[in-house]
Amino acid sequence: MERQKVNGVKADKQTRCAHYHTEIDVIAIKFYCCKEYYACYYCHEELADHPPSKWPEEQFESKAILCGNCQTELTIQEYMSVSRCPSCHHSFNERCSLHYPLYFDMKSSSR
Ligand SMILES: [Zn+2]
Ligand SMILES: [Zn+2]
Ligand SMILES: [Zn+2]
Repeated sequence: MERQKVNGVKADKQTRCAHYHTEIDVIAIKFYCCKEYYACYYCHEELADHPPSKWPEEQFESKAILCGNCQTELTIQEYMSVSRCPSCHHSFNERCSLHYPLYFDMKSSSR
């Protein structure tokens, strides 16, 4: 399978980076601003030459999450409803959900 290009600071093959590098930090996120995959929010901050923009809710059907373990792309909606990759069953870092507001515009859900 063709590998997606993932930008990241010292990113490894499973998209871990200098900021997040535990066993379960395997996902990369596509940013709405540049439609490019970055290993994490901080990688975008360090490497991109523009401020990040969030996915609007109408676009949550877009494939914007990459499992670094098996290269499967998930939609934002899919990703939010699972705690492991539906394809290779690798666990995702649950704490990533704390960062949803950095990537996704969650205006309708008031959590
Ligand atoms: Zn960007
Ligand atoms: Zn990073
Ligand atoms: Zn996977």
